[in-house]
Amino acid sequence: MNVVATPRLAADFAGIRAQFPLLARTVHGGKPLVYLDNANTSQKPLGVIEAVDRFYRERNANVARAVHALSEEATNLYEGARSALARFINAGSPQELVLTSGTTMATNMVAYSYLLPRLQPGDVVLTTTMEHHANIVPWQLVCQRTGAHVVAAPIRSNGELDVEGFIALLDPRVKLACVTHVSNVLGTINPVAELASACRSRGIPLLVDGSQAVPHLPVDVRAIGCDFYAFTGHKMCGPTGTGGLWARREILQSMVPFFGGGEMIREVRIEDSTFADPPARFEAGTPNIAGFVGLAEAVRFLESVGMAHIAEREHGLLQYATARLHEVPGLRIIGEAPRKAAVISFLVEGAHAHDLATLLDLEGIAVRSGHHCAHPLMRHFGVPATCRASFAFYNTEQEADLLVAALLKARALLA
Ligand code: PMP
Repeated sequence: MNVVATPRLAADFAGIRAQFPLLARTVHGGKPLVYLDNANTSQKPLGVIEAVDRFYRERNANVARAVHALSEEATNLYEGARSALARFINAGSPQELVLTSGTTMATNMVAYSYLLPRLQPGDVVLTTTMEHHANIVPWQLVCQRTGAHVVAAPIRSNGELDVEGFIALLDPRVKLACVTHVSNVLGTINPVAELASACRSRGIPLLVDGSQAVPHLPVDVRAIGCDFYAFTGHKMCGPTGTGGLWARREILQSMVPFFGGGEMIREVRIEDSTFADPPARFEAGTPNIAGFVGLAEAVRFLESVGMAHIAEREHGLLQYATARLHEVPGLRIIGEAPRKAAVISFLVEGAHAHDLATLLDLEGIAVRSGHHCAHPLMRHFGVPATCRASFAFYNTEQEADLLVAALLKARALLA
C-alpha cells in the first residue's frame, strides 16, 4: 500500500490540534500523551471549555422556570443548543430533537416511551451482532416484560453487516429495527440509508445509533430516512452528559413520557396529568444546561473545521495507521470492512489485550482494551477482548508511528 500523509490537510490540522489543551500534556514522567481512545470519548477544544466556564461565571440560572433576565438568557442558550444540534444533523426542526444525557438515555427513551406500549408476545426487535450494549440491553428489558424477543442480524468475517441477512429478518413481527451507523469496535460504516429504505417499504421503524458517526462524518438524518437517530455529545468534542434523540415529529407526538416530573407537563392534578408537546414531554427535570452550552460550542467548532474535512483527514489517518500496523509481526486487525471509520481493533499473537494496553500506556499511548461494551461481537469473533486504537482529526501520522514503535517494543517484552 502506498502510505502517504496528506500534507495540505496535515498543515491545517496542526493549528486545530493546538486548540486542544489536554493534548499537550505528558504522562508517566514526561512521556508525551498519544491519545488514541477517541471512540471512548473525545478531547475538548478550548472554546468548549471556555463556554462552560463562562456559563457558570456569567449566565448560570435554571431554564424555563423564571422570568428574570438570567433565566431567560440561560433558556435562550439551551434552546440555541437544540437549534444548533438540529441543524448539524439536518433535522426538520429543533422540535424534533429531544436533548438527552447521551445515546444510552436516548435508546432507553425509545424502549420505554415508544416500544413498550406497542409490544405484544411474539414480537421481535431486530438489532445486529455488532451493536454496543446500549443498542441491545434496553430492547431486552422491554421484551422481557412483554413476551417479545431480540434477534440479531449476522455480520461477515471482515466485520461488514450482512445486509441481505438483515433485510431477510424484516418480517411483520419486527416492531423496531436497530443498527449502529458506525461500529465502535470494528469501525464499519453501515449502509444506513439502504437499511432505512428496506425498513420503510415494510412499515418497520428504524433506529440508528449515531454515537460514532456524528463526530466523524457529515450526518443528515432526513437523507438517511430513518425514524430515530441517537447520538452522544462527549464523543463529538462536547461535555459528558449530553446528547440527543432525533425522531420524526409524528412519532414523537405518538410517544408516552418515560420520565415524569417538572417541565414535561401541561397540567398536573393529584389524580392525573396532561403532558407538554415534544420535545419538552421527554425532558423532565433540570437538564445539563452548561453541558449543552458547551455542546453548542463543539458544534460550531466542528462546523468551522468542516465535517467533510474531518472525514477526509481521519480516512487518511486510518489508511496510514492500518498500513503501519500491518508491519507488526503477529498483529491481526479485527474489522476490515471496505467502508470504515478510523477505529482499529487488533490483537497481537501471544499477548493479552490488557497486557498490551498496559505496556502501551507506559509509553504514553492511550488505547482501550476490553470488550468495548460489545459482548455479542466479541463472542462472534471468539475473543474475550481486543485492543482498540481510535483516531480523531487532531491525531497525527507521527502518533500512529509511536503506536507501532511501542507495539514492537511491547511484543518483544511479552514474547
Ligand atoms: N453506542 C455506541 C456505538 C457507542 O460507541 C457508545 C459509547 N461507547 C454508546 C452507544 C453509548 O454512549 P453513551 O455512553 O455516551 O450513552
